[in-house]
Amino acid sequence: MLWSLIKILVFVAAVIALTYGGTMLMDVEGGATISVGGIAFTLSPIELVFGFVAVVVAVWLGLKLLALMVATFKFLNGDETAISRYFDRNRERKGYEALSEGMMALASGEGHLAMTKAARAEKYLKQPQLTNLLTAQAAELTGDRRKAEATYKQLLADDKTRFVGVRGIMKQKLSEGDTDLALALAKKAFALKPKHEETQDVLLKLQAEKADWTGARQTLNAKLKSGSLPRDVHKRRDAVLALSEARDILDTGKTIESREAAIEANRLSPDLIPAAVMAARGYIADGNARYATRVLTKAWSVQPHPELAAAFAEIVPDETADARLKRFQSFIKRTEDHPETKMLLAELNISAEDFPAAKRALGDLVEKDPTARNLTLMAAIERGEGADDSVVRGWLTRALTAPRGPQWICDNCQHIHANWGATCSNCKSFDTLSWKTPPAGDVAMPAGTEMLPLIVGQKQDSAPPAPVEVVEAEVVTPSLEK
Ligand SMILES: [Zn+2]
Repeated sequence: MLWSLIKILVFVAAVIALTYGGTMLMDVEGGATISVGGIAFTLSPIELVFGFVAVVVAVWLGLKLLALMVATFKFLNGDETAISRYFDRNRERKGYEALSEGMMALASGEGHLAMTKAARAEKYLKQPQLTNLLTAQAAELTGDRRKAEATYKQLLADDKTRFVGVRGIMKQKLSEGDTDLALALAKKAFALKPKHEETQDVLLKLQAEKADWTGARQTLNAKLKSGSLPRDVHKRRDAVLALSEARDILDTGKTIESREAAIEANRLSPDLIPAAVMAARGYIADGNARYATRVLTKAWSVQPHPELAAAFAEIVPDETADARLKRFQSFIKRTEDHPETKMLLAELNISAEDFPAAKRALGDLVEKDPTARNLTLMAAIERGEGADDSVVRGWLTRALTAPRGPQWICDNCQHIHANWGATCSNCKSFDTLSWKTPPAGDVAMPAGTEMLPLIVGQKQDSAPPAPVEVVEAEVVTPSLEK
């Protein structure tokens, strides 16, 4: 708006200036006399100005005419620039048309059509970085893996498309199950684009799968730096990896490094049970009972877990049952209401043969949250108190069909593991194992449960009391008498 106003003002000013200049020239006296071929022309100043302008226009027109003549001359001499340019534009239009049609075909799942269009686009455009991508995707869609791989390899040649090529071949190798080559390619892709989140994830998964814990920790750090991983998750996963590193070192018998690594894992994440157990065992091997106690007590106060109690018992392996019971008092002090504490206390009292105290320790756990473990403890207590065999069997029968209580379960595929590990043994996911209760129904008996009391009842007279002894030895106190 303002600009238009300025333009109008400038135009008006120019018109006024020209008019004023013209009037001035007309008023000027004198002029110039030009003599051409003996004839003299006398021009007034205004005629002189018009004459000058006329000469400038004439020269400009002359030059234009000359250029046109040159162009015509060239054309007549066989230079077909104008014509070839017209056809080039036509080729480009056809090429892009084929390319967009190919992309449409790809999106609608018509692989063969997309491939044909890609070939057509390449013929017209001669831009392989554009058309190769379409060809590769179309080849994958139609299941032509060889063609897809060959095209991805062509993409490797250009700096701009190298990453796409590497990623394409990596995905192919992954789906073929060739994890060695996939890992090498993932490393290459990671070097090209360290901030690419998908590449980071693939690399991390493969490294964890191959037990390359050092490499996996480096990838994890890169993930933290590029901002694709929250700090607390990084801390936890790094602890998991540090622990796995420690385990591997332990396997080959290098105790000093394993202890250090396990302790580091424990420092990073004190609630990680296996790390705490590893660290504590490291200290026990070192004869440092005070640190082992500290590590385990800290972990237990965060998350009571039978493996922690078992490791705590290992600190003094040959103490009496009474001494052990006494030593555990400070260990369980801060978690008295936790079911794990109640069951642990019951176990300790059973080994100390204080059955009424064991029963008190269990409290109403068998009513409120019955599990195979606490029902078996109850059977042991009843037996210790000299109850009738039928009562003991009653508890054991209930234990058979009761839920198992918390286990190491994969969050991804729900697979139950006997021991903790960094990767799920079933679905190979990384850091998915958590200590939790499996969904109800997982441990149901295949036959009708109402049959059991009948079977047990029939055997009552002839069956020896041996099974109960076995249960006591194998189920009730295995963790404390290693
Ligand atoms: Zn799993």
